[in-house]
Amino acid sequence: MDRSYDAAVIGLGAMGSAAAYHLAARGLRVLGLERFGPAHDRGSSHGGSRIIRQAYFEHPDYVPLLLRAYELWHALERDWGSELMTLTGALMLGRPDSRTVAGSRASAHAWGLPHEMLDAAEIRRRFPTLRPGEDHVGLYEERGGFVRPEAAVAAHLGLAERAGADLRFFEPAADWTALPGGDGVRITTAAGTYTADRLVVCPGAWAPRTLADLAVDFTVERQVQYWFAPRGGTEPFAPQHHPVYVWEDPEGVQIYGFPAYDGPQGGVKTAFFRRGTPCEPETLDRRIHPGEIAVIAEHLSTRVPDLPGRFLRGAACMYTTTADEHFVIATHPEYPQTTVACGFSGHGFKFTPVVGEIAADLAISGTTAHSVDLFAPRPRSAAEPRTEVSR
Ligand SMILES: Cc1cc2nc3c(=O)[nH]c(=O)nc-3n(C[C@H](O)[C@H](O)[C@H](O)COP(=O)(O)OP(=O)(O)OC[C@H]3O[C@@H](n4cnc5c(N)ncnc54)[C@H](O)[C@@H]3O)c2cc1C
Repeated sequence: MDRSYDAAVIGLGAMGSAAAYHLAARGLRVLGLERFGPAHDRGSSHGGSRIIRQAYFEHPDYVPLLLRAYELWHALERDWGSELMTLTGALMLGRPDSRTVAGSRASAHAWGLPHEMLDAAEIRRRFPTLRPGEDHVGLYEERGGFVRPEAAVAAHLGLAERAGADLRFFEPAADWTALPGGDGVRITTAAGTYTADRLVVCPGAWAPRTLADLAVDFTVERQVQYWFAPRGGTEPFAPQHHPVYVWEDPEGVQIYGFPAYDGPQGGVKTAFFRRGTPCEPETLDRRIHPGEIAVIAEHLSTRVPDLPGRFLRGAACMYTTTADEHFVIATHPEYPQTTVACGFSGHGFKFTPVVGEIAADLAISGTTAHSVDLFAPRPRSAAEPRTEVSR
């Protein structure tokens, strides 16, 4: 069997579901292929919450994309009819010269983003759950908060189907071939062969294999999300008292957390930002080990002392990190009919709808009005050995 589409999307996680929706909404006949089921927990887009914020310490060039992402999150909520984004306020904490504080401040100034600078005493007064040391400050922005990853993926998938997309789950793409002369692509799965005029590849943690020919230096890392029942109950951690935060210590270790958004039973979620261990998606260790619970509980004990009351549960997730931690969103350098969106380096979810919009722009016209210079594939230097991996 050989079916033909205007566009195909490989991988229907965060970015692929958004790309499929934006392509279908523009009237294209879309095929979507996904290895697992809809909004699953085997990749990078599960765990109930993802921080969203605008003052962006990673690089000020992300800010215009964030402003557009907020518009698109609101549009998605409206079109799907459910709340996906909750704005609780966001606090970026650390010493004034830390990357988290200084970088957030620089991007807030560069783009005129509303924010407040709080000293340690003011932080403790306004947010009594947090106990910063005297030399710490916080950049607070009201527009920060969190989005719901599983619900957002389900919303994009649902709207894509409503717009006519043919979404196939438990059907991984085994291989794809760019047809000569930029003339479409052929995709093979265990169920058949498909052709499409253009292809968008959003493989998440499978990028090192699926997109080996980009020669980008991806590292896939296991990252654990932890839920604790705070000592003294969840009320002090309710969204009106306890904002989302990213907190950098003097050694550069970042921890982040959320309010108690799922009521008293849901617990309070927290995690290290970048303390992962290299892993492979097929063999990811999903067990949560007592030793790692003890490490995060110890880290919290002086900073959010009421939080590590009782460990409730944990969930392992994967980051696909590039060497400079910037995304890869581009037309494939060798195959103009193919667009790639990968390497989201642990901070991509908040951008999901705008990544879908950019991927659709690039797939349809090869260009986008958004500024994406930061996201060109950065191949590792020719001097470095390249591991040959088959797709
Ligand atoms: C613990 C954790 C915390 C995070 N916190 C934040 C945060 O607070 N804020 C934030 O903005 N971001 C955060 N992120 C990052 C964000 O969640 C990711 O950047 C984002 O989810 C990546 O989306 P993706 O589409 O690339 O990957 P995924 O959503 O994993 O999607 C990739 C999909 O491709 C499928 N696939 C792969 N190969 C094939 C194939 N051959 N055929 C068919 N399907 C295939 C996979 O099954 C998967 O569904 C966090 C990530 C983790 C793990």
